[in-house]
This record gives sequence, C-alpha cells and structure tokens, in this order.
Amino acid sequence: MSEIVKQHFLDLSSSELSAWCEQHGEGKYRATQIRKWVFGKRVESFDDCHDVPAALREKLKAEFDLFRAEVIAHNVASDRTEKLLLTLPDKQVVECVLMRETKRRTICISTQVGCAMGCVFCASGLEGLKRNLTKGEILEQVLRLDRLMTDPQERITNVVVMGIGEPLANLGNLIPVLQTLNEKGGMGLGARRITVSTVGLPEKIRELAKLDKAFNLAVSLHAPNDELRNKLVPVNDNIGIDAILSAADEYFAISGRRVTYEYVLLSGVNDAPEHARQLGHLLKNRISHVNLIPMNEVEGLDFVEPTSPRTNEFVSILEQFGVLATVRKRKGADIDAACGQLRLKHEQQTLTPLTES
Ligand code: SAH
Repeated sequence: MSEIVKQHFLDLSSSELSAWCEQHGEGKYRATQIRKWVFGKRVESFDDCHDVPAALREKLKAEFDLFRAEVIAHNVASDRTEKLLLTLPDKQVVECVLMRETKRRTICISTQVGCAMGCVFCASGLEGLKRNLTKGEILEQVLRLDRLMTDPQERITNVVVMGIGEPLANLGNLIPVLQTLNEKGGMGLGARRITVSTVGLPEKIRELAKLDKAFNLAVSLHAPNDELRNKLVPVNDNIGIDAILSAADEYFAISGRRVTYEYVLLSGVNDAPEHARQLGHLLKNRISHVNLIPMNEVEGLDFVEPTSPRTNEFVSILEQFGVLATVRKRKGADIDAACGQLRLKHEQQTLTPLTES
C-alpha cells in the first residue's frame, strides 16, 4: 500500500486554513480556533484541540501533519540555553536555539539546510547549500522551541533569524514566516521583536523593506573594506560594501529601525585599530549599531577570537566616532549553541567512514 503523503499543516496560511474548513462544511471561525491551539497553546496533536469537533479533528489528522521533523538531540546548557537538532523527512538536519536572559526568551531559527554564502569562518557553509527550508519547516522550529517552555508564563519574546542559512536567499518562504510570527492568530509578536540577519543582499533588503514592517535588520559586515570583505565573505565580490550600505540606509528610511551591523572579530585578521577606524568612518553618519561577535571556534578552522583588551580597544575606537558598539555575549557555549556547530558535528559523525573489521 502506498503511503499517503500528508500536507504540512504549518505551510498553510490562515486564509488557506479557512478555505479548507469551509470545504469541509465548517465555519471559517474554526480556522481561528485551530490556530489558537497550534500557535498559542502548545498542543502536540490535533487531538488536543478540545473545542474543535471530533469529526473535524479526524479530518485534520487525515490530511495534515502538524509536525514533520524528528528531534534527534535536545541539549540544555548550564545557562539554560536549549538547542534542538531536528531531522527533516528527507533526512536533512537543522538546528534551532532558545536563549534565556532575564525576562527575554529569544529563539534563533534556521532558514536553509547549509548555506551557499561561503563565509570563511562559519560552520554552516562548510558543506555548501543543500536546500531551502519550507515555510512549515521554519515555523516548526518556532513551535518546537516554544514547547520546550512548560511554564505557561514563559513565552517567546524575540525571534532572531540567525541560524543556519542566508534568510534573504530564501525570502519567498521567509516572508510568510515573518507574517505568521507577527500576526494576531499566529505568534502575535511585534515586528520590533523580530530580527533578520543577512550577509547583505541589496535587492532582497529592498524587498524586505517593501513589507513596510518594523522588523529589525542585521547586516553581517565583518570587514570595513571590500578587499578584506571579499576574502571573508566571498559573495561580496559581486556586491560590494557601498551597495549594501545604501540598501541598509533605505531600509532604515522606510522602516525607521536602526540597522545593526554584525562584525565577527577574528584575531589578527579584521580586529586591528585601523579596521575599527575604517568601520568608524563608514558608520559615523549613520544611525546604526555595531554588534561585535567574538569568533566562536569551529573545528577545522584556524580563526580565533581576539583578547579582551584588543576587543575593548576596537569598541572604544568606534565610540570615538560616535558609533555605538556592543560585544555579543556568548550563550550556551557548553552545548555548541553557535550557529551550525551542532549540525556540523552531527554531519561529521555520520559521515565518518566506518572501518570494516
Ligand atoms: N546568513 C546570515 C545569518 C548567519 S548567522 C548572515 O550572514 O547574517 C548570524 C551571524 O553569525 C552572522 O553575522 C554570521 O556571519 C556570524 N557567524 C557565523 N559563524 C560565526 C562564528 N564561527 N563565530 C562568530 N560569528 C559567526
């Protein structure tokens, strides 16, 4: 008997779900009811949607998978950061993280399996891009992380799209995810609580701006001149820093949100006082913020983070230019919580050839 392939429930928009309810002889309001359970009440199965008639629950179960991925690892760090490694139906693996900081509950989600951008210090792109994640697969990460919080008082407060992959290279699927995160009846999170991090794809930044929502934009700059950026972020070769800054300026003009520039600090590579001065010149007249990320070591890569005095000097030079800079705190260090690290380890383990005895 051939297996019936069900649709992923999380791929449906609210209007598609309403239409489905109508096709099945039910009022549209059923869609609102069902979504309330899924996005707001942490149900594990359609069986738990108690005010939905049993017959409709059966139809939902027959046609849709609520969740598709299998959790193959769940790590909890000493600072209560939690990380999930998920296997998708085609056996691809992605990861996502929940971080706790006072009252904030920030989740970090992935948008692609692997990455095509090739940033030389990043674990996610080492094996290239396998494929884009679907809308449902991205939302499933959100819901799985949400379900790690068993206390009803604990809620996702912020989402950062900073996991594996280049979100703007999968913008077609990212946009409906952002809508679901933002909309009432979805996760209901204010746009200001959602951050999209990009390598800097100018046309895609403009498309994001067209949504006319106050999502935060973080641009991974990592170098203050094209010569160095071409080496660290190879896609820069066809783009260039000027084009990225112009698109980011437009984003700020439309959204009113101060753009964050991310800058991974690589000892002896891009952390010299001269680099800080060049960055200061680039950003001094822009309403922006620099987020310095000390290099998270990746097995097989030689880059390391600078010493703290060197990092502090970088910050103070930026301050002399009036550029606000913060150094990112490391979360979940004892569970490989930095992007792509856990997946990489998993792939390396599974790819290690078995020696025949
Ligand atoms: N593709 C997106 C999301 C990448 S992950 C982007 O380029 O922005 C989020 C941030 O972590 C990016 O700034 C990325 O360059 C940075 N990053 C990747 N690997 C890192 C590492 N090993 N140490 C520190 N930061 C890293």
